[in-house]
Amino acid sequence: MKVKFWGTRGSITVTGLHHCKYGGNTPCIEVSFDDNSVIILDAGSGIRELGLDLLKRVSQKKIFLFFSHFHTDHIIGLPFFTPFYRPEFDIDVYGNPYVYNSIEDIIDLILKPPLFAVTRDEFKSIVKYHNIDNQFKFETEKFSIEVIQLNHPNPTLGYKIKNENKTIVYFTDNELIQNNHSIDELERLLLDNHSELISFCKGSDILIHDSSYSIYDYSQRIGWGHSSNLAAAMFAHLARVKNLYLFHFDPQYSDDEIDNLLEETNQFLQKIQSDVKCSASSDFLELTL
Ligand SMILES: [Zn+2]
Repeated sequence: MKVKFWGTRGSITVTGLHHCKYGGNTPCIEVSFDDNSVIILDAGSGIRELGLDLLKRVSQKKIFLFFSHFHTDHIIGLPFFTPFYRPEFDIDVYGNPYVYNSIEDIIDLILKPPLFAVTRDEFKSIVKYHNIDNQFKFETEKFSIEVIQLNHPNPTLGYKIKNENKTIVYFTDNELIQNNHSIDELERLLLDNHSELISFCKGSDILIHDSSYSIYDYSQRIGWGHSSNLAAAMFAHLARVKNLYLFHFDPQYSDDEIDNLLEETNQFLQKIQSDVKCSASSDFLELTL
C-alpha cells in the first residue's frame, strides 16, 4: 500500500516563497494498491495534479473517491480532475450528502455555470455516486474501508483503510476539544470525550490528523472545527498510533512556522514519553507501508 499527499493545506490554496517546503494545495491524498486500484481522499486543489499523473499510468483506471465533507477546500479541485473526462476511467464517488438529497446535488453546486463552464454531463468516464453515512463499510479483495463521524461544523467523515496488516486513518477537519483548555487538561478531556474515536484509531500505522493551529493560535479559533497540534499529538498517543502526520495547516503558516509546529509537537511527545513518531505532511510526500 502506497500513500501520496497531493494537497495538505487547509481552507484555501496558498503559493509563494514561504510555502515551498510544505506546499499550498488543499486536501487530497492518494492511497494505491498492487491490484492497480486507487483510493482518493478528498478533491482539494491537489487532485488536479493527481489527475494528470493518473493519465500517464497505464493500468490504474479504477478509482474510489471519498469525500470527508464538502467544504470548498475539499471539493475545489473536482472540476479539474481530468480522469472524469476520459472514457477509460471507472470512478466511484462517496460522500455524506448532509442536508441535500444526494452528493450529485452538492457537486452540481460547483459544476455548473456561472461557477464553472461545464456540467457533469461532460463527464466521459463511468461515474457512480454513493451517499454514505457513518455506518458505511466497504471491502474489496485489496482493502477495507470504514468511517466514523468527526467534530466539524457540517459533519465530516473520518476514514480507516486497511490493507493486509497495515492501517491508515484520515481525520481531517476534526476539532477534538471544543473549548479553551490548557495542555495539562488534554489527556483527561480526550479520554472523557473521545473513547470511540480513540478506539477507531487504536494501533494504526498512520494517522493523518487535522493540526491546523499551534496550541496558542487554537485559543483564538475555538469552534472553527479544527485541532491544535498538541491535541492531535495527545490523541495519537492515547490511540497508540505508530506515526502521526500533522495535516490541514492554516494558510497563514509559512514553512518556518510549520517547522516550529512540528518541533513543538515532537518536544511535547518526548515530554509525555510517547512512542508516536510525528511528521508534518507536505505536498508530494510519498510513503510505502
Ligand atoms: Zn478543510
